[in-house]
Amino acid sequence: MIILSGGTGTPKLLSGMRRIIPEEEITVIVNTAEDMWVSGNLVCPDIDTVLYLFADTIDAEKWWGVHDDTFTTNDSLKRAGHPEIMRIGDKDRATHIMRSDLLREGSTLTDAIRELARSSGIRANILPMTDRPVATHITTPECEMHFQEYWITYKGDPDVLDVNIHGIDDAAPAEAVLSALDDDDSVIIGPSNPITSIGPILKLPGMREILREKMVVAVSPIIGDAPVSGPAGRLMRACGYWVSSAGVLECYRDLLGDLPDVFIIDDEDIEIGIDGDIEIVRADTMMTSVDKSEALSRRVVDSFRNLPV
Ligand code: GDP
Repeated sequence: MIILSGGTGTPKLLSGMRRIIPEEEITVIVNTAEDMWVSGNLVCPDIDTVLYLFADTIDAEKWWGVHDDTFTTNDSLKRAGHPEIMRIGDKDRATHIMRSDLLREGSTLTDAIRELARSSGIRANILPMTDRPVATHITTPECEMHFQEYWITYKGDPDVLDVNIHGIDDAAPAEAVLSALDDDDSVIIGPSNPITSIGPILKLPGMREILREKMVVAVSPIIGDAPVSGPAGRLMRACGYWVSSAGVLECYRDLLGDLPDVFIIDDEDIEIGIDGDIEIVRADTMMTSVDKSEALSRRVVDSFRNLPV
């Protein structure tokens, strides 16, 4: 089973998925367009959340960082006049240092993540979407800035005029991503931000052609007329989509050049009127506990069973 992921909604789904599928049979292709070098190290927010989830060290209140982490280094840097854009925990920073040293020694990001996963005893196959640098930039009425600056420094407040993923046209899916997709025909688009998490993965050159040959089940990250968390609403609006599951589906149709085979929306959502060959499945998609994540995971896995192979 292959799952496309950002760093909050899909990891919640993965917390249930790993209860029903052997971990070594799960491949997660993770967005890297929110990665950023901070204080000398590469921070990969979405990958790290997925790593910490499988290592059972995730802070499941915030869905980033390690639970019970300390912030001694971050506080010292701040006191010394070197404030970091992110409040990075000490254990979290250890991951960033290990990864960045591997990169500085010449490893690809894929190999660096493989090494981090191995050292944490993780059996799931966690893959960065690409080994090349890509970065989501947000254009506001004042200026253009990295997504992290928009979301952390400016707290997602400024109006958004445009979203651009720098480097995406020159990037390529990582080799390991291509070979995972060669071996597996079932792909889940997790409930993640369609613009800044799933968008970059689907925009990688060649990706939509590959996915067109697969059975694709997508789970909506929007319930009713709002995201469960994060800036998806504002970003979808800026990109011309309604903030609704129908808007998410429209966005995926544009990104894939096709509809997913199955789209899972919430029981609370209004009817989606859409022409085309697609099955709309309803479920309780609000994952407020691991049990609820497991129940939704079962619906996702079951929905593949009805698809023609
Ligand atoms: P990011 O990288 O931190 O932005 O995380 P993601 O892109 O993976 O996840 C953000 C998206 O997950 C938002 O659009 C949320 O609406 C969605 N999300 C978070 N929790 C849930 C949930 O319990 N159910 C559903 N359906 N979506 C969720």
